[in-house]
Amino acid sequence: MKKTTKERQKVALLSRRKVVLAENLFREVVPSDVIVRENPRTVTHRHTYGGLSKFFLQLTARKLYGTKCRSTSCAHTGIWLPPRVHCPDCWEKMCWVEIDTSGAKVYTHSMTNLPGAGFMLSTPCPLISVEIPGVCTKFMSYLSKFGEGEPYIGMPVKPVFRTRRPTYTILDVSWVPNE
Ligand SMILES: [Zn+2]
Repeated sequence: MKKTTKERQKVALLSRRKVVLAENLFREVVPSDVIVRENPRTVTHRHTYGGLSKFFLQLTARKLYGTKCRSTSCAHTGIWLPPRVHCPDCWEKMCWVEIDTSGAKVYTHSMTNLPGAGFMLSTPCPLISVEIPGVCTKFMSYLSKFGEGEPYIGMPVKPVFRTRRPTYTILDVSWVPNE
């Protein structure tokens, strides 16, 4: 069946839209002899946070909670952040501890300019791991406010929380310089 002019224009427009999307994603010109395909996918992922629910609920109250082993015979005495329900060393159930972030600082960092599909933050985005006194893990997060030359290793940071329309994901907490 022969396409009408309007249908041909629509096909051309759709094709151009895919090329523009690809060029924006890869930040380079797509040569005219390269085919750009679009395969829409829809996935609904339903799951429970189970014993970790408290961590996400407390973010909306501007509190950061980790967990600590409750066994007195366990060699592991540090606080885990993100929390674990059971101790990775002795499998005892862990207990909740509110974290004092007053001494938090950037342990290491990297800048994300070309995020993968599903990345929900704006770019460039400084990804940081945060060192907190008393916490035995380094907390992976991102810096939501930063200036020239930031972040740097050892930079004091403090957490900020998304309390309006929380997502109940790890993105409800981010860090800013603690000046
Ligand atoms: Zn333990």
